[in-house]
Amino acid sequence: MMLYKEPAPIKDKENPFESMMSRFNIAAEVLGLDEEVYNVLKSPTRQVIVNVPVTMDDGKVRVFEGYRVIHSTILGPSKGGIRYAPDVFLDEVKALAAWMTWKCAVVDIPYGGAKGGIICDPFSMSAGEIERLTRAYTSALQDIFGPDRDIPAPDMGTGPREMAWLMDEYSKTKGSTEHAVVTGKPLVLGGSLGRVEATGRGVMVSAMAAMNKLGMDPAKSTAAIQGFGNVGAWAAKLMNDRGVKILGVSDISGAYWNDNGIDIDEAIEYKNAHNGRLEGYKGAELMDDPGDLLTAKVDVLIPAAVEDVITIHNVDRIQARLIVEGANGPTSYKADNIINEKGIMVVPDILANSGGVTVSYFEWVQNRMGFKWTLDRVNERAERIMNEAFERVYAASQKYNVPMRIAAYIVAIDKVAMTYKYRGGF
Ligand code: NAD
Repeated sequence: MMLYKEPAPIKDKENPFESMMSRFNIAAEVLGLDEEVYNVLKSPTRQVIVNVPVTMDDGKVRVFEGYRVIHSTILGPSKGGIRYAPDVFLDEVKALAAWMTWKCAVVDIPYGGAKGGIICDPFSMSAGEIERLTRAYTSALQDIFGPDRDIPAPDMGTGPREMAWLMDEYSKTKGSTEHAVVTGKPLVLGGSLGRVEATGRGVMVSAMAAMNKLGMDPAKSTAAIQGFGNVGAWAAKLMNDRGVKILGVSDISGAYWNDNGIDIDEAIEYKNAHNGRLEGYKGAELMDDPGDLLTAKVDVLIPAAVEDVITIHNVDRIQARLIVEGANGPTSYKADNIINEKGIMVVPDILANSGGVTVSYFEWVQNRMGFKWTLDRVNERAERIMNEAFERVYAASQKYNVPMRIAAYIVAIDKVAMTYKYRGGF
């Protein structure tokens, strides 16, 4: 199954939304953003709450609560995933919607930011119940969604299957097939080639660009990667193809280390044959404490699993010179200062993992053109966009003398603020 996720939530013990807002505030101050524009950008444009009645398999009707938050449409139609989870709540959706605005702006994609969610437990529901829920939610939001208005995508608890239902339901109400209303669709239904590996590929591209700036030779460098799922495994493979020796990888089953470098193709094959996990993998040693992977002696560290793993509790022991954030929110706000004092370069999440939303944008473009691109074309264009975004952020970090993370926010906020001024308000 094609794995596709828009930026995931952050459940930071230090409060993720505040973590993001703290960085946003620093960037706004460096930029000298005026208060009025600041106020426009800090809160969502539109918040929709829907009650979605669904007939369950036992014949009883259950009502689910669903959300769609549009943070901004200043740059274009809003874009963002839909999450099915028992604990999804409006504030979380609001934070994630804002995040999408910055992510799209940093890679210069003509989208605003949005996010959606339904309070439900998809793992305890039948496929039929999930289908009816997806169709009912789509129907409730048919005036919000649209290829020129708001374009959803999968997130936690949803995938290509749900996107296919959403597209079909939306198309029914329009009386015509509307592929471009949603991205992350199955390939046969207008999904894009290269989407599956797009985020890992973008991580590799930004890692290579950063190594170049730091004068690091990939063929003489080592890396450790936390998470061996879609993003981590693809990043590992593509970095390895460029000569980087991957000494350690980890997943939920533990961390695996090999001083001579892990055979990544073999590890991926093993994972694919073992339910997506490395448990029992013999090509490397199981580390006693998986947390040690993050502080091990490597040149490049790639957190590509979950949020909030680089914190004030381990940051002073990190030995890598470069951190490339494949995951969303892997570094807590409080750890930022120590990272900067140590002189570690961080390619932040909103830049490093934006290869995924970039190829989602390509999916939408292809749908609108009615023409499918080759894999080479997708990869070549995504690589160019990632490299250009990296250079923009790097240039801002030099110009304002700030770390790459703040520079990424500066680039994003500046673009949205400038566009807002051109478009004007009331
Ligand atoms: P995935 O479910 O395919 O893989 C997650 C991996 O992390 C798995 O190998 C899992 O075993 C491992 N993992 C989970 N908890 C862990 C822990 N505590 N320690 C070590 N490993 C652990 O997910 P993914 O799509 O690869 O996403 C990974 C991260 O990248 C998430 O933060 C996600 O939001 C972000 N991201 C993904 C995409 C995308 O296109 N897939 C895009 C942008 C951002």
